[in-house]
Amino acid sequence: MPADPDCIFCKILQGEIPSTRIAETERAIAFMDINPGTAGHALVIPREHSTDLLDIPAEDLHACTDLAREIAARAKDRLGADGVNLLNCCGEDAWQSVFHFHLHVIPRYKDQPDKDDLRLPWVPTPGDMDDIRATGEKLA
Ligand code: AMP
Ligand code: ZN
Repeated sequence: MPADPDCIFCKILQGEIPSTRIAETERAIAFMDINPGTAGHALVIPREHSTDLLDIPAEDLHACTDLAREIAARAKDRLGADGVNLLNCCGEDAWQSVFHFHLHVIPRYKDQPDKDDLRLPWVPTPGDMDDIRATGEKLA
């Protein structure tokens, strides 16, 4: 899909909005998130505009996951991260606010609240097994 004139990430790709670019490949680029959840929070996006997980072509998705893995490795090697979360928000109700597909690469730091005070956004609680099976059957 050609660049979307209203898309801030297309503008970043075209250099119309400044960014701290940290890596690029033929199909994807990575740059720093300006509202970092933890130290080193980066975003990986395809060069071609796609709205979200459900419409991105497979080649672009693979390019983004490959590059996200590379940035995750750098976060561990160069920033001393103890772990990494990958996050994708697909749809407004799933926290997506920029509608150009992106993967968040979020380095995680154990016992360093100055760099990382993230918490799981749900409380793990055993579910009703009948509901779980019934929902699983719909997805199977
Ligand atoms: P999401 O809410 O999953 O759609 O994530 C969008 C992300 O883009 C947020 O974490 C924002 O902080 C980030 N963001 C928005 N504008 C910019 C920008 N100009 N440069 C870097 N990151 C940005
Ligand atoms: Zn775009």
